[in-house]
Amino acid sequence: MIPRFKPSLDWSEFLTIFKRNKRAVEKFEKEFAKTFNAVDAVAFPYGRSAQWAFLKAIGIENGEVIMPAYTCSVVAHAVTLSGNIPRFIDIDLYDYNMNLDHAELAINENTRAIIATHTFGYPQNLDRLEAMVEKAEKRYGKKIWLIQDCCHAFGADWKGKMIGTSGDVAIYALNISKLITSIFGGMLTFQDQKLANKVRDWRDTHFKSGGWLKSIKRRLYFLAVYFAFHKKIYGFTLWLQQNTPLLNKLTKAYHLDNKIHFPPDYLDKMLNVEAAVGLKQLKKYPKIIQFRREKAKYYNQNLPRKEGWCLPPIIQGATYSHYTVRVPNRNEVIYDYKNKGIELGKVIQYSIPDLIEYTSSNNNFPLANEASKNSINFTVS
Ligand SMILES: *Cc1c(COP(=O)(O)O)cnc(C)c1O
Repeated sequence: MIPRFKPSLDWSEFLTIFKRNKRAVEKFEKEFAKTFNAVDAVAFPYGRSAQWAFLKAIGIENGEVIMPAYTCSVVAHAVTLSGNIPRFIDIDLYDYNMNLDHAELAINENTRAIIATHTFGYPQNLDRLEAMVEKAEKRYGKKIWLIQDCCHAFGADWKGKMIGTSGDVAIYALNISKLITSIFGGMLTFQDQKLANKVRDWRDTHFKSGGWLKSIKRRLYFLAVYFAFHKKIYGFTLWLQQNTPLLNKLTKAYHLDNKIHFPPDYLDKMLNVEAAVGLKQLKKYPKIIQFRREKAKYYNQNLPRKEGWCLPPIIQGATYSHYTVRVPNRNEVIYDYKNKGIELGKVIQYSIPDLIEYTSSNNNFPLANEASKNSINFTVS
C-alpha cells in the first residue's frame, strides 16, 4: 500500500537518535532561521505551543484574532487557550486560502492579530496582507499583529519573496506529517531580534525541560514511525489502525478535533533529540520541496479529470504540503484507490466553526464547508 503521506526519514536520522546531541536545540534554531531567511528562530514542543506562547508573550488578551475557517483545529484552540477569540473567515476554493476581502471587512477595533495560513503550500498574497494591516493600524491607532502560519508551506514564496519574511512572526510545525519533521516540534521565526528575545525569554520562564523519560519515549516513537512507514510494513500499520485501538491510543491525547485541548506536555521545551532529527531534515529540505513540486505537476498532467473533479492549481512558489482534489463522491474514490494499493487522505475534514466547541460563533462558511466535505489528497511524499 502506498501511504497517504510519509516522512522522509533514512539512516542519517535513524543514527542521530542514538547520539547525545548536546545543544542541538540552539543549533537547530540557528540553522532554521538561516534556511527560512529570518534573523532568529525560537523552538517549541509543538506548533500549537509556539502559536499560543507567542500570543501570551506579546500579552494580548480578549482580542479578536482573524483566521481561516478551514485550517487545523489546533490553531483555533491556541487562540482560545491564549484568552483570545478566533474570528473565522471563509476561504477561496481556488487555493483554499482565507479570502482576504472578507478578512479585511472583518477587521474592527477589537482585532489584535491576523493569522494568515498558506494552506496546502499555496502562498497568500503578502503585499495585500501587509497593506491591509498597515491601513487598519492607522485607522484604529493600534498594533495589529501579522502572524503567518507556514505549517503547510515551508519555503514557499510569493512573487519571489519567501513567505514568513513579512509580518511579525511565522509559525512552523514539525510533526511527522509536515514537510520536514523533528519528531514533534514547532518553531517561530522572526525578522525583529528584540521581539525574538522577548518571546525566547517568555518561553524560558514558562516552559520546562522535557526530562530523560520523555526523551526515551520520543526515541521509541521515532523508531515506531520509522518502521511503520516502511514499504513492507505499512500494510500492517494500516491494519492495526483499522482493526485495533492501539494506534489511536498513541495519537488521541495529541489531537482531538472536538475539544479545546492541548497535549499534557505542551509546556515542555523541545528535546535535543528532536532538534537533532530536525537538523538532518533541514539539509534535505530543498530536495523534499523539489520532489513535491514535481509530484504536483505530475498529478496535474496525469490524473484523470473525471466529471466533477476539481484539481488544484499549479502556482509559482507553492510547495504543496498536500495535493488536494475536490470530488463529488469522496468515499467511493478513496475506496477505488485503496483497491489499487494507493491510500488517499481526507485532510481537514471540518470547517472549524462547525465543530461543536465553536458552533456559537457566527456561522456561514459555505466554501470552507465544501472543501471539508469533498476533498481528498494524494501523496506528495
Ligand atoms: C500542523 C499544523 C499546526 C499545528 O502543529 P502541531 O505541531 O500539530 O501543534 C498548525 N497549523 C497548521 C496549518 C498545521 O498544519
